[in-house]
Amino acid sequence: MKVVALAGGVGGAKLLVGLQSVTGSDLTAIVNTGDDAELYGVHVSPDLDIVTYWLAGIADHERGWGIEADTFDLVDALERLGEDAWFRLGDRDFATCLARTRRLRAGMTLSEASGELTRRLGVIARVLPMSDDSVRTVIETSDGRRLEFQEYFVKEHNRPEVAAVSFDGLEDAKPAPGVLDALADAELVILCPSNPFLSIAPITSLMGVEETLAAHPRVIAVSPIVRGAALRGPADRMLRSLGAGAGAAAVARLYAGFCDEFVVDVSDRAESAAVEELGIKAVALPTIMSDRGASERLASSLLEL
Ligand code: GDP
Ligand code: CA
Repeated sequence: MKVVALAGGVGGAKLLVGLQSVTGSDLTAIVNTGDDAELYGVHVSPDLDIVTYWLAGIADHERGWGIEADTFDLVDALERLGEDAWFRLGDRDFATCLARTRRLRAGMTLSEASGELTRRLGVIARVLPMSDDSVRTVIETSDGRRLEFQEYFVKEHNRPEVAAVSFDGLEDAKPAPGVLDALADAELVILCPSNPFLSIAPITSLMGVEETLAAHPRVIAVSPIVRGAALRGPADRMLRSLGAGAGAAAVARLYAGFCDEFVVDVSDRAESAAVEELGIKAVALPTIMSDRGASERLASSLLEL
């Protein structure tokens, strides 16, 4: 079955691992690039790399990001030289970023460069950045500051309360080649349990994406919120500070314009009625992916819905 999945970081990557086991090369992942940044002279693409490392089987599962058993000699050395080194980029992770940057400088697009790098790392699924154009997520905090995404997320440990999120460059950005075709051709589109504001919204806000999803008969979202909370990261706090409500049904409401079925965790069956009131079919499944087996079981269940 041809499956397309929209994803950001770790929550998305875990479901992609299960989907890749079940569908192999019939899986296309469309990945957020709003978190990208220029750091240490290289193009850092945190979500693309998290997804790639998980799909290649080399991710650091404890941390969620980076490569397992990676070392941090380079950033440590930079710090000793007086550089600001709050972004902890591992040595092998740095190599990925450097290889990508060299390809971009040689004139490749981001999707060409990441296509080559994911192949070389042994990823079976097709991984597409959402756009080859620069889109940069900007966070406005409740104390009136405008932060670049990595300043908010990593330097300030996503502690500041978020008052607004915007995407610099979004209006002129096109979906990467293949994105709209993959969505239109997919038998099933899955919105992974990623942060709705930081990971999914940048993708669905690109021109043509929401319309293509709305026209698609089978778009299934998996809730990133379980029992009112995010398993990691700021999604639950952002739902409140951005006035979207609370709980899994609040996420369903954000997706109501283009989502046909919404998967809540089995522990959140009580939210099903609120989801169905939005005109979205609610399904309850075990969604906590504590290991590869759990990811595969969730992926198989989604394909059987
Ligand atoms: P980030 O960039 O690493 O924050 O990752 P994402 O945007 O992909 O995902 C963040 C969301 O993933 C959080 O809201 C988490 O609650 C959710 N998440 C992480 N692991 C799981 C899981 O195993 N199951 C579900 N349902 N959600 C998860
Ligand atoms: Ca992310």
